Order: sequence, then C-alpha cells, then structure tokens
Amino acid sequence: MRKILILGASGQLGSELIDKYLVDPNNIVYGMVRRSATGNFNNIQHNFKNDRFNLVRGDITDPTSLNNLLKEVQPDLIINTAAQSHVHVSFEQPILTSKVTGLGVLYLLESIRQFSPQSRLVQLSTSELWGNSKAPQNEKTQFAPESPYGVAKLFAHEMCKLYRKSYNLNISCAICGNMEGPRRGREFVTQKIVESAIKIHLGKQDNLKLGNITTKRDWSSVHEIADGIIKLGNSDYREEFVFGSGRTNTIEEFARLAFNVFNLDYQEYIQIDDEFKRPSEVYELKADSRKARKLLNWRPTKTLKEIVQEMVDAALDREFVNDK
Ligand code: GDP
Repeated sequence: MRKILILGASGQLGSELIDKYLVDPNNIVYGMVRRSATGNFNNIQHNFKNDRFNLVRGDITDPTSLNNLLKEVQPDLIINTAAQSHVHVSFEQPILTSKVTGLGVLYLLESIRQFSPQSRLVQLSTSELWGNSKAPQNEKTQFAPESPYGVAKLFAHEMCKLYRKSYNLNISCAICGNMEGPRRGREFVTQKIVESAIKIHLGKQDNLKLGNITTKRDWSSVHEIADGIIKLGNSDYREEFVFGSGRTNTIEEFARLAFNVFNLDYQEYIQIDDEFKRPSEVYELKADSRKARKLLNWRPTKTLKEIVQEMVDAALDREFVNDK
C-alpha cells in the first residue's frame, strides 16, 4: 500500500486530490486539517466512511503535530496544499500569511529531513511568484511577487529547492496558475461572480461589486490541475513544473460568460468598488506549461466556458439545497 499525506485536506485542491487518490485501492490517504472554529468539512466528509481515508489533526505551523505525524505515518508521498492562499487577505494579515504560507513549509521540510527523509514532497507553488514578469511565464521566468502571499510562497519555493540540494530530499514544486471548480472558496473572484450571477438571476441580489476587472488570469479546471500534480507526484523528477491552461482572460470576460448562462448582460450589474482593489496588483498571468505537457504527458482540455458552466451548475444545486 502507498501512503499519501495531503496537507490542506479540506481546501479546494487538497480535497480534490484526496478524491482522486482514493480511487486507487492501493492508496491509503491521510488528510491533515487544522482545528478551526468553524470545522468546515464540506469538501471531505463524503470520504469519512472510507477505511482507506484517515483524517488527522495538525497544523503546518505546529512542529509537534507535524513531527509526530511524519514519525508515525512515514508517508511515501506528501502533497502540501496548505496555505493562507488569498491574495487580498494577505495584505490585511501579512504576518499570519507569512507564518502559514512561508514558515510553515520550513517546519514541514525540517520535519521531513529529521523524521521521514525518504518521503517525496510536492509543494504547491503559484503563478503569483511571477508577479508582473512578462507573459507567458514558464519555469525560467523571473520571480517578482507583488503580494505578501506571493513573497511567502517564494520563501517556501526557494526553501524547497535549498533542502532538495542540501539534503538530497525528493522534492518537486508545482507552479500552478489559478484553478477553479465547484469547491472554489467564495472569496475568490470566480466563485463570487458565479454566485452573484445566480442570485441576481433569482432576484435575490441587485448588483455585483468588484475591484479591478481588467486584470488577466490563467484559469484552469482544478480537476485537471490535480491530474497534473498526481502525474508529478508519480514521476521521479526532482524539478519545478508549471501547470496552467495557457489561456488568459480578463475578470470582465469571466463575468460575461457567467452572466451569459442566464441571458443577463453583466454590464448592467457590475459596480466598481475600491474596497476590492489591492494595494499592488498582478496584471497578466498566462502559464506556459509545455514542460509538463511534454515530460509528464499532461493534457488539460477544458475550455473556460466549460469551467464556468460546471461552477454555475454546482452553485445552483447549493442554492436550492440552502433554500430548503
Ligand atoms: P488571485 O489571482 O489568486 O488573486 O485570485 P482572485 O480570484 O482572488 O483574484 C483574481 C483577480 O480578480 C485579481 O486581479 C483581483 O484584483 C481581481 N478582482 C476584482 N474584483 C475582485 C473581487 O471582488 N474579489 C477578488 N477576490 N478579486 C477581485
């Protein structure tokens, strides 16, 4: 049996990876979640009865829990999706973000080095590392982060490379573009747009307040990004790989597609509100993932329209469940 530890198990990507790994009967999956006041297990509770799934309590900023877990489990593969990953929040809580997203990874690396050095680690890096370096961006593009989140992720990324080189650890970093799907948190712009379009369509909301809608993002399906990370985890590469659709679209274009589903003209409903603008912005992300496509045979195919439709369908279901 292969033991796989997912950090950030209740998040969008972590929970997606758990679902995919559990399909293979040879995998035992450990999902680490931190104690939180809300204890939100919506994304993982459907696996609680699976005896190959183990929910473990721990926190990436708490070395004791990490050390005990790694000592006991000795995972074959660790995937770290745990982070304070919201860019806007990272400006409001830069110190917390640095502790969780940056320093937390150093705790993890120390724990691996001391207690489970044979484990393979895939660290989730981000297209935010590139900041405003010219698009399209790839593994060789210069990093120039524009937010406390990006800087913390860069610390984590460089620390992973340093530990790999210094201690010969088995580490790869996946530099991923934005990933979207039904489990996307509603504080991210795509889910916010989708849920608002539905509420406006149902007459429950009048307008949608957004910040900068001219920025461009490379939005992929989270399912396809998870497939890429699994391929990377299964490979022997100890290198960095970029994962992204290779498309880039404005926030406005995403809104147009989401409102179109309901035959609504987005322009009638969007209001620009400075509250949602950031002190510093990343203007254009477009991931060049030719390396992953060639060496890992990764083949993402979903169009942005399909991603929007999937999010709309799932959000509609939630809306009607909540109504009951
Ligand atoms: P990010 O790419 O990781 O920052 O993902 P987000 O979904 O949070 O933001 C994507 C882009 O949408 C950024 O350029 C934001 O500035 C822009 N944006 C515009 N209005 C909003 C908003 O109301 N909420 C969020 N989260 N982003 C917004």
